[in-house]
Amino acid sequence: MVVVLNYIYTAKYLVSANAPPIEAGALLVHGGRIASVATLKEIKRNNPGVKIVDFHDALLVPLLVNAHTHLELTDFGLWAKLAGEVASPENFVDWILCLIRIKRKLSGKQYQLSLGHGIAQSLASGTGAVGDILAHHPARNLYLSSPLLGSLFLETLGHDPTVVHQLGNELKEALKDNVVGSVKLGVSPHSPYTISKNYLKRVYRYCQQQKIRCTTHLAESSEEVEFVEWGNGDLASRLYPQVGWENYLPHPSGLRPVEYLQQQGGLFPENLLVHGVRLNDAEIQLLAERQMRLVLCPRSNAKLNVGKAPAGKLHRAGVKLALGTDSLASCDSLSIWDEMTFAQHWFGTELDAPTLFNMATQGGAEALGKENEMGSLEAGKLASFQILQPKTTVAIDSVFDYFVSSDCTDDIAQVYHSGKQLPSLTLLHE
Ligand SMILES: [Zn+2]
Repeated sequence: MVVVLNYIYTAKYLVSANAPPIEAGALLVHGGRIASVATLKEIKRNNPGVKIVDFHDALLVPLLVNAHTHLELTDFGLWAKLAGEVASPENFVDWILCLIRIKRKLSGKQYQLSLGHGIAQSLASGTGAVGDILAHHPARNLYLSSPLLGSLFLETLGHDPTVVHQLGNELKEALKDNVVGSVKLGVSPHSPYTISKNYLKRVYRYCQQQKIRCTTHLAESSEEVEFVEWGNGDLASRLYPQVGWENYLPHPSGLRPVEYLQQQGGLFPENLLVHGVRLNDAEIQLLAERQMRLVLCPRSNAKLNVGKAPAGKLHRAGVKLALGTDSLASCDSLSIWDEMTFAQHWFGTELDAPTLFNMATQGGAEALGKENEMGSLEAGKLASFQILQPKTTVAIDSVFDYFVSSDCTDDIAQVYHSGKQLPSLTLLHE
């Protein structure tokens, strides 16, 4: 007989999304799920004799969601150094060309190692779910032993009809698995500038028919807008010859990126859009009308010097937002706490700290279709939470300011996934 034990976890403040912090708050956990959330006093009264784990003056907070990343590129800094590449390319297209040069030299084993490091760093920084993009599909088996939830989007791109026909078949074969470990398989048609119109249409149609989640980089840079609209610019003149696509340059579409995506059948809510730096007002309106979700990656955008997403306009228009780190090829850490800190500076008054926390929890969970499992501390969801131990006293009315203060990643004392404490967190921090 399996005995399922109940536990009560309590801390100075329990903070969830969409709710004010609870002083001396507590969770009753049964079989890896939250059975109830209230003050310790109330939970104790209703559950006498249940073992209490008291974190005293710490904060008990949901695990965060990194809605857009490429964990297979975690070792990028090392690879760049070994290849003698400049760490910070001057502009977006320089950066893509650098990435391509480095990726061409990699072995499958290097991707595997790098993805393993990415998973470990994500866990150590209090991330519970990811929207992870994988170009080296065989590495996906590393997720078999990871507690991370979310989606693993298999990347696909290309132009040559024979090549993409073959890629499409391989993708369908890989997608038969449906899940790997605790993540669901999805597809990432990379972006409008790296995939043919016909293949993009086919991928979206297939995903909608099969109810498979997608994610697409969109409106990241002015170079992309120019390419989609007019078929020229640096992407046409520098990227395309570099990868042997000179014969596949598209005709000018005359369309903005969102209109172009709509034409290819890409505006459906399960297609998670990423970046949206170069969206105009009409595009924002269209995304809101189509109930699209968008992941903002401010640190990556700043590093690649592509501009600032119209975050306030998107938020006010009702486009549901999430946060992502993107990869360590364009960002300094995989911590969503760090992303929140940067976003607070980058977007200023456009998004306040509670909104950023919401994007990092509930918004991210919804973006990955995991809102019934995580994103907030509520009865019925997984008991997936982290314990933050601040070095100085945090007042209850400044909890959200503390969340964007740049201290939280270092303050993570413990991490629980589905009621199980993650071992060796201190080792992961080193
Ligand atoms: Zn990306």
